[in-house]
Amino acid sequence: MNDSVKGPPMLPFTRPTIDEETIAEVAQVLRSGWLASGPKVAQLEAELSRYCGGRPIRSQTSATAGMEMALLACGIGPGDEVITPALSFVATANVIMRVGARPVFIDVGLDSRNIDLDQVESAITPRTRAIMPVHFAGLPVDMERLYAIAKRHKLRVIEDAAHAIGSSWRGQRIGSFGDLVCFSFHPNKNITTIEGGAISGGSPEELKSIELHRWHGQVRLGPDSFDTLLPGGKSNLSDVAAAVGLGQLKRLDEFNARRRLLVARYYELWGKDAPLRLPERGDEGHSWHVFTPLLPLVELRISRLEFIEAMKQRGIGVGVHYPAIHLFSCYRALGYRDGRFPNAERIGRETVTLPLFPTMELADVDRVVAAATAIVNGARA
Ligand SMILES: *Cc1c(COP(=O)(O)O)cnc(C)c1O
Repeated sequence: MNDSVKGPPMLPFTRPTIDEETIAEVAQVLRSGWLASGPKVAQLEAELSRYCGGRPIRSQTSATAGMEMALLACGIGPGDEVITPALSFVATANVIMRVGARPVFIDVGLDSRNIDLDQVESAITPRTRAIMPVHFAGLPVDMERLYAIAKRHKLRVIEDAAHAIGSSWRGQRIGSFGDLVCFSFHPNKNITTIEGGAISGGSPEELKSIELHRWHGQVRLGPDSFDTLLPGGKSNLSDVAAAVGLGQLKRLDEFNARRRLLVARYYELWGKDAPLRLPERGDEGHSWHVFTPLLPLVELRISRLEFIEAMKQRGIGVGVHYPAIHLFSCYRALGYRDGRFPNAERIGRETVTLPLFPTMELADVDRVVAAATAIVNGARA
C-alpha cells in the first residue's frame, strides 16, 4: 500500500489494556529483589479465589500447562479417552495427547460454538475418563446438563475456561463451581499476566498433584532437605506476571462490561438481517472474549482470505478462531476425516473474528460494521 495515502489508524482485532498503576506495580516488583513465585503469586491466587467464591486456585505459566496438569491430576493417561469439542484452540486437544490419552471429538452447535451435549453420551466408552468442554467466546456450556452427564457416567470434568473468566451461568461465576476449571491469561484473553493461567477447584489430592507437577515434584521435608515425589515439570508463575494479573483482575468486571456494550452495538447495527451470521447472543453472563460471526461464503464471490485482506485495506484487523481441530494432520492421524463434524468444519471455514477489546469506541464498531457490510454485500454472486 502507498504510505502517503493514510487511512484511519489500524484497528486490531484485540489489544490488551495495561494501566499505568499496573506498570508502576511491575516496576516495584522488579526492584524488590524477588522476581519468581513469591508474595505476588500468593496474592493473585488469593484474589482469584475470592473472585471464584473462595475455591482453591493454583496459577501456572499458561492454561495449556494448567490443563495438562489437570489431566495428570485426574490420573488420565495412556489407554484413556477424553471427550472434547472439535472446535477450539488446538491446545484443548493437544494436552490430551500430551498425557498419552486419546481425544474423542464431538461436534459443536453452529451458533453457540459449544460442545453438542446431545452427542456426548453416545461417545462414552469404558475407556472414557473425562469431558473437556470449552466455554467458547465466554458463552457458558449448559452446566446442569454437562455435570448431570458427568455424574451419571462417573467422569471428571476439566473445563477449558480460557475464554470465560468473568462469565457466569445462571448467575454463578464460571470457576466458582464444577470440577477443575482452567483459565488463561494470555495477552489476547479477557485479562492477562502476559503468559499465564490458573486452575480453580480440584480435590485435595488433585491440588497436591498440581503443585507437584508445577514445581519439579518436590516437597520440602525440613529446612535443609527435600524429597522428589514425581518427575514434575516447571510451570510456576513469576511475581512480575502476577503483579500484572493483580492490576488486571481489579478491572475485569469493567473490561467485560465494556465488551458486552460493544457487542450490543454490533447486534444493534446488524439486527436480524445481518450480512454475516452472528453467534448466539447469550445473556449478561457472557464474557465476550471474541466476536466471531460466520461469512456466508457459499453466496460470495470472494474467499475468507480476500475478505480479511479487504478489511485490512480499510485499516481493520480480523482474526480466525479457529480451524476445526480434527482436520489438522496430528488428529487426522487418529482417523478423523472431512465431513465428520459439519458444524465445526463450517465454522472453521467461515469464521472471522472482528475487533473487540475494552478500549475500543462505539464508533470503531460502526466502522467495522460498515466495512464488513460493504465488502460482503459487494461480493454477492
Ligand atoms: C488461549 C486458549 C488456550 C491456551 O491458553 P494459554 O494460556 O495460551 O496456554 C486454551 N484453550 C482455548 C480455548 C484458548 O483460547
